[in-house]
Amino acid sequence: MADFDLIIIGGGIVGASAALAGVRRGARVALVDAGLAGRATDAGAGIVSPVALDRGEQRPEWTALITECVGYYQSLLAELDAVDPTGAGSATYEQVGELVVAGDDPHEQAALDAVAERLSTPAGRRAHGVTKPVEIVDDVRSYWPELRGDLRGLFITEVGRVVGSRLHNRLLTAARRRAQTDTAATLEVIPGAGILTSTGVRVGHRTLTCRAVLFATGAWAAADLAAYGVEVAVRPIRGQLVHLRLDGQQTGMRPVVNTPGGGYLLGFDDRIVAGATHEDVGFDARVTAGGQHAVLQAALDLAPGLSAATVLETRVGLRPATSDGLPLVGEVAPTIHVATGLGAWGLTLGPLLGELAAQHALGDRLPERLAFLDPGRPLSKES
Ligand SMILES: Cc1cc2nc3c(=O)[nH]c(=O)nc-3n(C[C@H](O)[C@H](O)[C@H](O)COP(=O)(O)OP(=O)(O)OC[C@H]3O[C@@H](n4cnc5c(N)ncnc54)[C@H](O)[C@@H]3O)c2cc1C
Repeated sequence: MADFDLIIIGGGIVGASAALAGVRRGARVALVDAGLAGRATDAGAGIVSPVALDRGEQRPEWTALITECVGYYQSLLAELDAVDPTGAGSATYEQVGELVVAGDDPHEQAALDAVAERLSTPAGRRAHGVTKPVEIVDDVRSYWPELRGDLRGLFITEVGRVVGSRLHNRLLTAARRRAQTDTAATLEVIPGAGILTSTGVRVGHRTLTCRAVLFATGAWAAADLAAYGVEVAVRPIRGQLVHLRLDGQQTGMRPVVNTPGGGYLLGFDDRIVAGATHEDVGFDARVTAGGQHAVLQAALDLAPGLSAATVLETRVGLRPATSDGLPLVGEVAPTIHVATGLGAWGLTLGPLLGELAAQHALGDRLPERLAFLDPGRPLSKES
């Protein structure tokens, strides 16, 4: 008999979600993680939104997927709270809403108008799982006093924010607890690099056998699978962020501030997160002067009132990106599966896609609605 039913290589948000899904259905699971610098899950800003500001309605199946993934958060959190009530509460996730803002720039105005237009009809809102009519906001400073006064805004209620690293820890805690209480399921978390061989997965001196392998190795998936002769077109896009503190201000329930141009601000109980760069620089997980300059410039342009905020820390992560901006989920060779390419949407999509990928690797059919994420579709290795 094989050592494991499923070996998951890569323990970010996707791998941790897959591990929970595996033990939930009674499987013997190994989760192998190399602890590489640049893990995207540790850097992710935390916007969980059913509304893409840049893509419009180009792909209804994409809109349906992100809407389903946002909806899935509620049932997942209920499960995590039941397994470990001490972790419950807004420290992990809160639906705070999103203020999409634009200044005088005609492109920004047009993008804001396009979002407003899309969400102006009941059918448009339904497609995004948005139940309340969106609200035009003239006084954006009533939400964020530090914002520039000339900005015009649009408020979307159904947007949340999550602390990715905390959600990740809670997924692993839940998986461990379920494995302890289920008679069939087991979970072994194994530190180290997992290397696929013809006989199994090698980690250090151990060779582990299994019924199926799931590569949830984020930006590293292409290199990991190339060694086995499988081509997966995913590459790293570096993202840098800065974390700020505003003394004497309650920032935990502030809405996400987002812009069609890419800059954003998130409020948490103890910090404000400003992001982010999109840098095509390969596997370079350094925080750079230029990157931090760009992030701070964008943040202070949006919210000059943050200029006296304390810089708490910087973060950097490598987003797993594909040329068409869509994830890769499915089987790439017999019993070898991938779930990667979640790009800038991984905290939103990761919990559900990780779960569905694990179920598929354990023998379920992949739902038809995920067919457009087929890892075998033609993709360029460039952006
Ligand atoms: C700056 C920034 C801001 C973001 N903001 C948001 C946001 O607001 N909302 C949102 O939804 N998403 C956001 N994202 C995207 C999201 O963070 C990522 O898409 C998501 O975390 C990817 O998760 P993952 O599990 O696929 O990869 P990762 O989290 O990168 O995990 C991959 C893991 O694989 C391991 N690994 C690789 N190779 C091997 C091997 N051979 N053996 C063992 N382990 C291996 C690595 O050590 C790593 O731990 C952001 C990302 C960044 C960088």
